[in-house]
Amino acid sequence: MLVPTCPCALALAAPIVLTRANALLLAGGIALTRGRAIETIERVTDVVFDKTGTLTQGRFSIAGFVPLGTSGEAACRALACALEGESRHPIARAFRVEGVAPAVDLRNVPGSGVEGRIGACRLRLGTAAFCAELAGLPPSRSPAAAASQTPVWLAGEGAWLGVFLLEDAPRAEAAGLVADLAARGLKLHLVSGDHPAVVEALARRLGIDTFLGGATPQDKFDYVARLQGSGARVAMIGDGLNDAPVLARADVSMAMGGGADAAQAQADLVLPGGARARPLAGIARAFDISRASMRVIRQNLGWALAYNALALPAAATGWIGPWEAALGMAASSFIVVVNAMRSLERAPGAARLPAPVLATG
Ligand code: ADP
Ligand code: MG
Repeated sequence: MLVPTCPCALALAAPIVLTRANALLLAGGIALTRGRAIETIERVTDVVFDKTGTLTQGRFSIAGFVPLGTSGEAACRALACALEGESRHPIARAFRVEGVAPAVDLRNVPGSGVEGRIGACRLRLGTAAFCAELAGLPPSRSPAAAASQTPVWLAGEGAWLGVFLLEDAPRAEAAGLVADLAARGLKLHLVSGDHPAVVEALARRLGIDTFLGGATPQDKFDYVARLQGSGARVAMIGDGLNDAPVLARADVSMAMGGGADAAQAQADLVLPGGARARPLAGIARAFDISRASMRVIRQNLGWALAYNALALPAAATGWIGPWEAALGMAASSFIVVVNAMRSLERAPGAARLPAPVLATG
């Protein structure tokens, strides 16, 4: 009587699908660090993007400089380079100058900027609000923010030195991703620590309706918590130190492979890094794979339960013989495995992979 029952089919129903989903994601360069993410992605309603280094390339160039004191651009650049001495923020690379020693007492304030001491002077480089804590009210001849240029301020105690205007470009695959996720019924948000005008311009360019600029790491955290409070299931995609708290808070978190280690440590999925990587390219596919996986797991569980519910009474009443029972048992595991392979293979964009070898019983 026990021969036809097949607990193996029940036990295999989910793990075989999750293993397959993991392999498909990995083939696209996406590392799954927590297996439960496959389940959670399916239920996501809202996707929140960070801007700098996530939707944009994070390769800044200095497009302009406005002096606010007596120092010229070259002197201010050298000071900025010294302040960025230990920073791994994408902005730091724009200020690199050969032969400049790092400042001392360096402090990195995620989402705001950097602080350090050069000689007797304490200096800050970053957002206007961050520098204003040291320098007081910004000078009246501050440049008006151009929509595409990130202003980065340099100030000392009681003195504004200048403002650099930096340019960064959206990633080539960003607009396609936004369109793909919107087409899947997801609500999209852009939340960034950059100047509100720059954030709004990028959101409009990419077609993201809901956006917030000038956001501190706490603001990002609160934004996601508020969405969750209104019933949303949130996926957060970010890269920086300033994103670590919000990545930990989100229902599903995705970190850029080339971003900060702290962000990756909080993430359920790590997207491809490296100079030639297109980290956003596989995200829509991850949603498809997750949705297909959960559909197949439900099908498999339904089939395995139905099979066992029929096979047991059939054997007990002598309606099926021993060899039919043995065949049925093997077939039920086989069907569960084949269903997982075939259905996930058909998930849009899924790469073809060799099937894993499994012992069933
Ligand atoms: P996002 O949220 O878009 O990733 P960040 O939070 O990384 O942006 O940065 C927000 C703002 O904080 C930047 O636009 C810049 O003005 C300032 N900032 C942050 N880190 C630095 C840094 N290392 N050097 C200079 N400015 C910085
Ligand atoms: Mg960022």
